[in-house]
Amino acid sequence: MTTRRRFLMMVPVSGAVLAAACSKQEEPAAAAPAPAPAPAPAPAEPPAAAAPAPAASPAPVAAGPMVEATDPTAVALGYVAVAANHDTAKYPNFVAGSNCANCALYQGAAGTEAGPCPLFAGKQVAAAGWCSSWVKKTT
Ligand code: SF4
Repeated sequence: MTTRRRFLMMVPVSGAVLAAACSKQEEPAAAAPAPAPAPAPAPAEPPAAAAPAPAASPAPVAAGPMVEATDPTAVALGYVAVAANHDTAKYPNFVAGSNCANCALYQGAAGTEAGPCPLFAGKQVAAAGWCSSWVKKTT
């Protein structure tokens, strides 16, 4: 009896063990490792480095011919190539010492004899010149 009873008690246990063992075998094999993703295409060559920007200097202004005394704009503004030659009767508010070189509109480099002025596009005015639109340079 003892043997039979023991056998009957062991059947469920062994059955459970067998079922567990079988269930492990029935599990799908471990998934094959996913294929490695295709290597990313090599990054494109970075664009060629742009030329370094010039230092904080203003863009150069193209030089042009000198403003002629007969230029209609020069006549209208009373421009003279030498400030002292301005029309004192017509421009009584002339500021002593004023000239193109110390005018806010003058675009010539310091120390140059002539430079562009936006009032005379494409032309140059004399650094020693003057016109009635003179505005004191602040810097
Ligand atoms: Fe000279 Fe200034 Fe007159 Fe231009 S605006 S012509 S720089 S005085």
